[in-house]
Amino acid sequence: MTPSLEVSGLAFAYPDGHQALFGVDLRIERGERVALLGPNGAGKTTLVLHLNGVHRAGAGTVSVGGLEVSKPHLQEIRRRVGVVFQDPDDQLFMPTVGDDVAFGPANFGVIEPELSLRVKQALDAVGMGEHADRSPMHLSGGQRRRVALATVLACDPEILVLDEPSSNLDPVARRELAEVLLGLDRTMLMVTHDLPYALQLCPRSVVIDEGVVVADGPTRELLADPAFLAEHRLEL
Ligand code: ATP
Repeated sequence: MTPSLEVSGLAFAYPDGHQALFGVDLRIERGERVALLGPNGAGKTTLVLHLNGVHRAGAGTVSVGGLEVSKPHLQEIRRRVGVVFQDPDDQLFMPTVGDDVAFGPANFGVIEPELSLRVKQALDAVGMGEHADRSPMHLSGGQRRRVALATVLACDPEILVLDEPSSNLDPVARRELAEVLLGLDRTMLMVTHDLPYALQLCPRSVVIDEGVVVADGPTRELLADPAFLAEHRLEL
């Protein structure tokens, strides 16, 4: 079966010559939940920015649901790669929650009655079905993050990419988000420094350090190795 994500031999240097990725390989099957771990500066963001075509690979390839990330496919790739940013403010800018959730799919050409159905399903999926008419400005931090997730779900992405989903959440909001994420039948790549959250949500983790994949395996096993954690500056 075609994987949701296939990264092969990805290498990339920034214009100043700094080599951030050295031949990264990563395959994520449909329905897998994978954590992308690594210390500051490891190359996690650089990798994610290749998935939706913001960066162009120096060498190697990236495919999403079998479609290669390249200029002619950029619009479809951006629909397939649903990035939920760390700061919900980057995704919420309309007068109402419902408008925010409709914005993405409308942009990708979804029209009524399908559009309203997508908005309803996405908000229900994140437990915000009752809040479509509210202003995002009046929601709590946890609710805003769940609405930001709904804006992406409404586009029906091939893979959800979550950037530090648990940051700045109180314990209740953190648990509510985890329950929502565990209830979604979606392929996920979760970039995080929050190792307990990775353990709770992602059966598999990929660790990168200095632009190289240094481990790829069951999260439980990787995090149970104190020497490995210390070597890669990962803190439980
Ligand atoms: P963090 O966990 O702190 O967000 P990260 O794993 O996401 O880190 P990246 O932001 O991908 O790491 O950075 C990888 C490397 O590339 C780092 O050495 C960083 O300093 C460098 N880098 C990032 N952006 C640029 C840029 N625009 N120009 C040059 N070097 C960059």
